[in-house]
Amino acid sequence: MVVEGKVIVYGAGISGMIAAFNLAREGYEVVVRDREEGFGGSRVFNPSTHVTPLDLEATSEYIGIDISTAFHPMESIDLFLHDYRIPLPVAGSYAVERSSRPTSLDALLYRHCLEAGVSFEFGRPLRGEEVDSLSPNTIIACGLNPEAYDYLGVPYIHWYAWMARGESSKPNYAWNWLDESVTEYGYISFCNGIYFNLLFSYGKEVDALALERYQDFMSRVMDMEMDGWEYIQGAVPLAVPDNPRLFRKNLIMCGTISGAMDPFMGFGISGALVTGKVSALAVTNKAKAEEEFARFTRNFARVFQFKREVWYGLRPRVDLMEELARILGPQRSLSLIVEGIRRGRKSSAIPGFGPLGCH
Ligand SMILES: Cc1cc2nc3c(=O)[nH]c(=O)nc-3n(C[C@H](O)[C@H](O)[C@H](O)COP(=O)(O)OP(=O)(O)OC[C@H]3O[C@@H](n4cnc5c(N)ncnc54)[C@H](O)[C@@H]3O)c2cc1C
Repeated sequence: MVVEGKVIVYGAGISGMIAAFNLAREGYEVVVRDREEGFGGSRVFNPSTHVTPLDLEATSEYIGIDISTAFHPMESIDLFLHDYRIPLPVAGSYAVERSSRPTSLDALLYRHCLEAGVSFEFGRPLRGEEVDSLSPNTIIACGLNPEAYDYLGVPYIHWYAWMARGESSKPNYAWNWLDESVTEYGYISFCNGIYFNLLFSYGKEVDALALERYQDFMSRVMDMEMDGWEYIQGAVPLAVPDNPRLFRKNLIMCGTISGAMDPFMGFGISGALVTGKVSALAVTNKAKAEEEFARFTRNFARVFQFKREVWYGLRPRVDLMEELARILGPQRSLSLIVEGIRRGRKSSAIPGFGPLGCH
C-alpha cells in the first residue's frame, strides 16, 4: 500500500527507528534526522550494554520486528547491599548492546529501516527555533537530551554518574549495588564482549568519595579493577504521575522523551520499543494511539507513588537492609525479593513486561 505523506522523525535511536520502520512499511516517505554522524545513539553511550526485563516475543510481535537476536538472556544478576550478595532471578531479563557495532540493537533496527526504504540525515539536530513550525505528524524521539526537553517543555531531572566501559569476555552478567553514597545504584552489565559500568544518582552529584567506595567494593568483593572512569551527566523525564504524554506542542513524543519509562528502576528500553510503534500509530490514528499509550503507562502513577513514599523512605538505610538480609540469609532474602517482583509485575510500569505483556 502506498499512502500520501512524508513524516520526519528526530532521533535515530531505538524508538525513532521503530516508528520510522512501521510508517515506511505503511507507505509513508520517512526521513530520520539525528544530531550524531551515524546510527548508534548518543556517542556518550556508544558502545554500552543495558539490562531490561522484557516480554521478548510479545514485544517483537507488537512492534513488527523480530528483535530476539539482539537480546541475550541473562545468565546471572546479583544484588549487593554494600558487600552482601543476593543472587536475583534472571528469567525474563535480557542484556542488549547499544552502539553502531553490528551486534547492537541499533544495527538491527537500522538494517530494517533501510530495507523498508527509510532515509537518514545524520548530523542534523532538532533545533529549538524550528519546533513551532514543524508539521503535527512529526515524531520526536530524542532520548535523554535536556535541550530537547527544554524545546518541548518536558519536566525533567538531572542525573549524574561515573561511567567506565571496556572489553570483557564475561557472559551476560549484571549487578546492582546499593550504597548510601548514591541516590540510585552502581550497576554493571556485560554482553557481546563489552561491559558498561555506571555509578548513578538522580538530582545529586556523585562525588569522588562515592566512586572510591564503589571501586573498593569492586576490588575487594568482585576482584575487578577498572580504569578510564568518566564523569557524565544528563537528564531524564521527571517521574511525576502526569508526565508520560504522547503529544506535546502538537508533536508526537516517542521513547524516553514521552516519559514512558519505569519510574522505579529507570528501565527505558521496553518503553522505547513499544512507544516507537505507538507513535507511528499516532500519525494514522490519533485516538487509537492515545488509547495504546494510556494502556502502556497505566501503572506509572502507582509505581511512582511507591518509589516516593515507600522506597525513598527505606533507601538511605542500606545498613538496615543489609543487616536484615544477613539475618535471613540469601535464600529467604531472595524469596522476599521474588515475592516483591511477583507483586510488582502485577502493577508493573514497564511496558511490554508483566502478566499482560504487550496485550
Ligand atoms: C547511562 C544510561 C544507562 C541506561 N541503562 C538502562 C538499562 O540498563 N536498562 C534500561 O531498560 N534502560 C536503560 N537506560 C534507559 C534507556 O537506555 C533509554 O530509555 C532508551 O535507550 C531510550 O530510547 P530512545 O529511543 O528514547 O532514545 P535513544 O535510543 O537514546 O535515541 C535518541 C536518539 O536521539 C538523538 N538525539 C538526541 N538529541 C537530538 C536532537 N536534538 N536532534 C536530533 N537527534 C537527537 C540521539 O543521538 C539518539 O540517536 C539507560 C539510559 C542511560 C542514559
